[in-house]
Amino acid sequence: MAFDYDLFVIGGGSGGVRAARIASSEHGARVGLAEEYRMGGTCVIRGCVPKKLMVFASGFPGAVADACAYGWDAQIGEFDWSRFRAKLDGELDRLEGLYRAGLERAGVTVFDCRATLAGAHEIRLADGREVSAKHILIATGGKPVVPEAWQGQGVMTSNEVFLMEALPKSILIVGGGYIASEFACIFNGLGVDTTQFYRGAQILRGFDEEARGHIAHEMVANGINLCLGTDVKEMEGRNGQTWVKSTTGHDRSYDAVLFATGRKPNTDGLGLGALGLGLKANGAIPVDRYSQTAVPSVYAVGDVTDRANLTPVAIREGHAFADTVFGGTPRFFDHGLIPTAIFTQPEYGTVGMTEEDARAAGPVDVYSAAFRPMHSLFAGRDNRAMMKLIVCRKSDKVLGCHIVAEHAGEMIQLAGVAISMGATKAEFDRTLAVHPTMAEELVTMRTATRSHTG
Ligand code: NDP
Repeated sequence: MAFDYDLFVIGGGSGGVRAARIASSEHGARVGLAEEYRMGGTCVIRGCVPKKLMVFASGFPGAVADACAYGWDAQIGEFDWSRFRAKLDGELDRLEGLYRAGLERAGVTVFDCRATLAGAHEIRLADGREVSAKHILIATGGKPVVPEAWQGQGVMTSNEVFLMEALPKSILIVGGGYIASEFACIFNGLGVDTTQFYRGAQILRGFDEEARGHIAHEMVANGINLCLGTDVKEMEGRNGQTWVKSTTGHDRSYDAVLFATGRKPNTDGLGLGALGLGLKANGAIPVDRYSQTAVPSVYAVGDVTDRANLTPVAIREGHAFADTVFGGTPRFFDHGLIPTAIFTQPEYGTVGMTEEDARAAGPVDVYSAAFRPMHSLFAGRDNRAMMKLIVCRKSDKVLGCHIVAEHAGEMIQLAGVAISMGATKAEFDRTLAVHPTMAEELVTMRTATRSHTG
């Protein structure tokens, strides 16, 4: 049977675009791609990219304060959100254009509309047309979820935050994950009176406990009103603000409320049920390690599969899919060791096991240091950086590295190379220190801070 395309991709985000480009330009497949919103997906349009630019913007008041401490006569004025927003919009337009141009250069046919599945090889476009493809890749990503009780109450999610008309004077952020913690730091840095509610005992559940405690301490020291063991109990609009009563009995009004209470895979209405494709409880598409679903012609990559919801992971999954199906070289992305960064202030870079997971798996030595970095010590700031290595006692292999410090994201990328190669503690120790830096701590920690003998 002749198909219109060899591959049809639904979703123009990181994973879908990479798969489409590789299949077309490197493996000669005839590829179509449909995107219902803007090319680039969550990462480019309403995630990593605009978030990181806001992180940069929020760092300037601290930088100017440091400049004064270093002898500069400097002062910072007001932050002009509309000026920043206009610049941000322009940058996102530029990036979206690059994504589109890359697809067109690769020979991919782009459809600017919603597409759904009409069969194992059939795709229905929003204008009613139907096209066929030998293979279909679902790369529709995810979307933020707000608990039912607070839907329709004018609260923001990370989708709306980049579209704000004005910067609020005060904000409540609900949640304790990546997004809530990053935005708490961003708004606080921009001078907004920031409160964060997290229902659990410590933010960033699932990450290394010492690192979580360190970050939370620094966030509070930086002025964030972090309320742990706290959730929203009542909420209503009052005099142009949102009045919130917490589960701990406190109440106050905020100019804005941002819910960062998790994300869910974008599978609603995609036509998967009619294909007999069962979904996980949260709507994610089950796939094997080659990203293939139970319907052999249908594959899925990225957040819609809810494996590790990160841009570089979606890109690797999409690339491996294209090489496997169209390049004749079956390969898959190994989700075992993922270096990642959380752009809180201070940043958190992490790769490998947490101390808790490592000690549960066997005997480990922990090398950990918390210290006042030279740059901020001289400026009179009291913040501390944290570096930690978790080392297997049997093999001497470094099982995990955790860095809480300015530019931790940059540092963990390189620690990730060493740890991916299976570096031992002796190899870290043999590496000459780069002095004076914060990262030199990683190669100069000689004595274990503690040992877990199992
Ligand atoms: P997370 O799942 O990481 O965090 C959700 C948070 O909301 C948790 O603290 C959770 O609490 C809390 N929560 C969930 N439901 C409720 C509820 N009903 N009431 C109150 N609190 C609730 O989601 P995020 O939205 O922060 O991030 C989604 C994903 O996006 C991340 O997992 C990550 O993969 C990706 N991401 C990556 C970034 C990066 O690489 N720097 C940046 C931003 C996002 P509890 O812990 O108790 O469940």
